[in-house]
Amino acid sequence: MLSQYSASSRLREDVLNPPSEIEVQALWFEQLYPRELTTDDGRTVEIVQPGFWNHGGGPDFTRAVARFRKEGQSEEQLTIGNVEVHLRPGDWNAHGHDADPAYNDTILHVVWESKGSKAFFPATASFRRVPQIVLGSQLVAPWAELQPLCAGVLHRPLPGAMAGRCSPALAALPAEQVAEILRAAGLYRLRQKARRWYWRRQLAGPQQMLFEALAEALGFHANQIPMRLTAQRLPWSKLRGLSHEERLAHLFGLAGFLPDESVARLRVEPKAWLRNLWEIWWKARGELDYALLPKSQWKLAGQRPLNRPERRLAALAQLVPRLPELQSALKARDPEPFAKVLLGIRDSFWEKHATLTGTPLKAPCRLIGEERVDDILINIFWPIISLDEPEAAERGMRLIHAAANGAARVASQRLLTSRLTSKQLREGLIQQGLLQVFRDYCQADCSSCRDCTFPEQIKSWAKF
Ligand code: SF4
Repeated sequence: MLSQYSASSRLREDVLNPPSEIEVQALWFEQLYPRELTTDDGRTVEIVQPGFWNHGGGPDFTRAVARFRKEGQSEEQLTIGNVEVHLRPGDWNAHGHDADPAYNDTILHVVWESKGSKAFFPATASFRRVPQIVLGSQLVAPWAELQPLCAGVLHRPLPGAMAGRCSPALAALPAEQVAEILRAAGLYRLRQKARRWYWRRQLAGPQQMLFEALAEALGFHANQIPMRLTAQRLPWSKLRGLSHEERLAHLFGLAGFLPDESVARLRVEPKAWLRNLWEIWWKARGELDYALLPKSQWKLAGQRPLNRPERRLAALAQLVPRLPELQSALKARDPEPFAKVLLGIRDSFWEKHATLTGTPLKAPCRLIGEERVDDILINIFWPIISLDEPEAAERGMRLIHAAANGAARVASQRLLTSRLTSKQLREGLIQQGLLQVFRDYCQADCSSCRDCTFPEQIKSWAKF
């Protein structure tokens, strides 16, 4: 490929600009560097896996695997973590990663160049120095020759992972057999989720289990744990006896989202909302002092305004009086009324705000949108149904059209399920199966597929 592309670059008359940051990310993703690189602290590092390319918030590559060596000695353990890419060393601090705990697991800082005499040592918020690689001087060929290769991957949607060793074996199977393998993995995942809710139902009762499950789902990955803790510390049985404003005051107060100072800085509408709640909260606070959540429990950086935990807490408050309706829909095994309740909740203040201090949203937005509802059906409704009626849950999961999701997209690029139709790829059960295979095999692999047993398993299934 290099000889093919280098001819065109030799004919190039215009001067090629240095790469942009996304192009340096593409160089890293395509592994256009020798297997062993040198870090700024004089070590040799073997890049076993460059990691999964993350196009959302947080580090650029997740779950990279590297082996550091010093003076020809191999360290005993592989190092697994994230990789952050920038053009220059100082960008680490300029982008605030030195104070952001989301970058604490960074194992390599990859930069294009390091100019000037002043040395810069990137460090995490936990004060750990991050080894740095200057990639521009360690590529397999000059940038002019590699630029066309990078341009080849920089088409939208950007890839998240390379196809794995199992992809040819999967591609050799009939599409329906691939779909059945993934459905079986999806059922396994459904049973795992159901088992968890089973124990919670035994311990806390069906209403409280559902309340905690909804709170966790509203936490949407980043804030699942603090949302669940809030629902455990303020159980449904306590909240149902309160007025709506009292519920809001308790939930926001316990979660640490009622600012008790600088109220004067707020706009008129948030200030009125907050005053109302403070009137209730200052009297109730003493009783809940032991259970207050520290603000550090919440992940706020990098959250889209519509996913802010304040809006999720407001949604949870609205769901308290509607829990019996949701419970009836569960008993009837009917996802439609369940979804209707979720989509129907309204809050005149939080539909227009993402935070108390920020500017209001341009247009009112539902507290729970359709994608989140599908997610709740997949992760809560059908797993709970499967506790008592697994066949009904399997049928329901086959009928759900799951929204495109970043993790499933990366999983499908890795396993290269190109044989599946787009309808099959959107089937809830198949998407769950993809996520399960990705979790059990790809996320456990540290050998760039070499030691993974999944391809051999596929070959054994191919015989049947
Ligand atoms: S780690 Fe295993 S399952 Fe994942 S892509 Fe590689 S071979 Fe496939």
